[in-house]
Amino acid sequence: MRFNKYSILFFLFFLAGLHAEPKRSVIKISKTALFETYRFDIIQEDTRYFYIATNEIEQKYFLSHGIYFENVIPDIKKFYKKINYLTDYHSNESSLTLLNSLVFPNFSSVASIGTSIENRDISAYKITKDENVSTNCYIIGLQHAREWIGMEVVLSFVQYLYDHKDDENLQSIFFNKVIWLIPIMNPDGLEYTRTTDRLWRKNRRDNLDGTFGVDLNRNYDFEFLTNSSSNTASETYRGASAVSEPESKSLVDLISSQSLGGLLDFHSYSQFILYPWAYTIDSTDHEVVFNNLALEWQKLIKKVNGRVYEVGQPSKLLNFSSGGTLMDYLYGDFQKLTLAFELPPENTASNGFELDPALIKEISNEMLPVLLNFIEVCDEKYLENQSGTNAQNDTVTVSSGCGLLR
Ligand SMILES: [Zn+2]
Repeated sequence: MRFNKYSILFFLFFLAGLHAEPKRSVIKISKTALFETYRFDIIQEDTRYFYIATNEIEQKYFLSHGIYFENVIPDIKKFYKKINYLTDYHSNESSLTLLNSLVFPNFSSVASIGTSIENRDISAYKITKDENVSTNCYIIGLQHAREWIGMEVVLSFVQYLYDHKDDENLQSIFFNKVIWLIPIMNPDGLEYTRTTDRLWRKNRRDNLDGTFGVDLNRNYDFEFLTNSSSNTASETYRGASAVSEPESKSLVDLISSQSLGGLLDFHSYSQFILYPWAYTIDSTDHEVVFNNLALEWQKLIKKVNGRVYEVGQPSKLLNFSSGGTLMDYLYGDFQKLTLAFELPPENTASNGFELDPALIKEISNEMLPVLLNFIEVCDEKYLENQSGTNAQNDTVTVSSGCGLLR
């Protein structure tokens, strides 16, 4: 068989097509037509419609089930090309520049805890005034790429601690604990949301079947196979095996190599304070302890500007369960203090992940009393010292919203 230049060109296009990512769109579906809403990536809703980020593979599901939908943003990549608030939020580079500018001798340092799939550093700002202390407290953001406000809250806390490094009431914390602030757990995903697809959630793993990305917060080794997705096209794809991703492995290696006091994990959106379990609606043995602390933090936040966060287990607040989350892993394997936040806006607010940058400062300020309380109480023995009897929380069901556990 003879090849001419056209057949070679066609063959090259064919190969390129094999590796092209499925096109992503935003579709709208009547609320009366959609059940099992947790299966879908609902980014917004109004009284009549859900607006869902989908790819071509997922749209076949709707077609095959006779569910009518309207394509409102046919190509997310093209639609989100111009982000007019891009410079209001940090990039990987500007975040690292800020962290490095806040390094102070005998107080803090910046270290890479590992690298991402695309070889970007996962940077941590580490604070301690005594290198020999053993209690490690972690505050992390941006496991999910599009949840930019989580990164900003962590960065603004770094700035606060730097500015207050000589405050008398913080000295016992700085001398007795190591505080790790990791604003960007998913640097490749962040870059992708800034350049290509603002609504991207996962990391940038090539799944070798035309799809990309693993949901880092389904990739941890606790109930990994329970209530999680093996579908590579899913926004909540758990990965080929537990801790298969360099981003999640970097964090696991760091945490498991030293004594753990506790960890806070920042997500958006929904305005929730969440505690284990996520994989089941069963309560933990420390339900009362977690609930009391979350209620205390709810009050601290409300005092600042009046904003109210709901409190509870994600499996109950969202009415579905998810395995392989970081929170469950840290409680399940280590029995330590671990909570997660879904930052504003609330479920029904417009724009969801695209939070107005004018609110960054306000939300960060509201979280400040909680963060200060966390680094104070963070301790290996917190849960056992605070132990009480078990109790059931009221179940509140919401139809939409947050990025953490869908
Ligand atoms: Zn999230």
